[in-house]
Amino acid sequence: MQQQQAAGKSIGFVPTMGALHQGHLSLLAQARQQADVVVCSIFVNPTQFTDPADLEKYPRPIEADIQKLEQAGCDVLFNPPVTEMYAGNENWHLDIGRLEHLLEGKFRPGHYQGVMQVVYKLFSIIKPNLAFFGQKDYQQVMVISRMISLLNLPVKLVMCNIERDPDGLAMSSRNVHLTTSDRRHALILWKALQQAKAQFENGTPLTEIEQQAAALINNEPGTHPEYFELADGETLQPAKPHSESIVALVAAKVGKTRLIDNVILR
Ligand code: AMP
Repeated sequence: MQQQQAAGKSIGFVPTMGALHQGHLSLLAQARQQADVVVCSIFVNPTQFTDPADLEKYPRPIEADIQKLEQAGCDVLFNPPVTEMYAGNENWHLDIGRLEHLLEGKFRPGHYQGVMQVVYKLFSIIKPNLAFFGQKDYQQVMVISRMISLLNLPVKLVMCNIERDPDGLAMSSRNVHLTTSDRRHALILWKALQQAKAQFENGTPLTEIEQQAAALINNEPGTHPEYFELADGETLQPAKPHSESIVALVAAKVGKTRLIDNVILR
């Protein structure tokens, strides 16, 4: 029996890279509701960054984060230095098949191996009963749930809704890098996802939905789409009209900032 079960208390865990916003806080609120003890980690994980400049400029406002965690009723903050998490040059990986190489995987090779390394280590240290992840990183949720099932890890993954600014922009720690005009152009991602949702409900063919959304983003100044795909909600392979669950996923560079977002169509 695990220690936390012996003590009769359940542990709810929210892994983050800090620069906390309302999206992170909504995960913490859900953890607060469903678990006895809430643990949050703040760790900017170097192994999941493919671009060293992105790692370098990642925001790290630790004092403000600690205040937010206190207000959110978080019981424990785990904020380790890199040397505590990684002993040296770690090359171990887990074969999760094609899921790793699709969508984000195409543009950020090795990213999900880094994510699995850190989440596996965090699970081993914290031993949570429940782990809360945002739908914002939909592919990450699928990757972690594959890891949990392949390794029979004793943790239940809970996927939480995407928190958005009032105008629809998905909250993200990277939004602080958007200039005022980037911020305006970035709304095209949400517009494209809403258009896709409306067209899906009207019965527009899937490929047409994808093409029109990609064109919409392409025509927005300062914005470069990387992908707009309708994917099977489980495998993330291209969606088929009969796929049980379908998700529209988008990634684009707006100015110098790379943004992702998604909407579950069914
Ligand atoms: P990050 O700090 O970006 O690694 O994110 C930590 C967790 O917060 C991940 O599970 C994200 O999916 C989740 N998250 C990030 N942005 C949002 C958002 N806008 N709404 C809900 N969850 C989010």
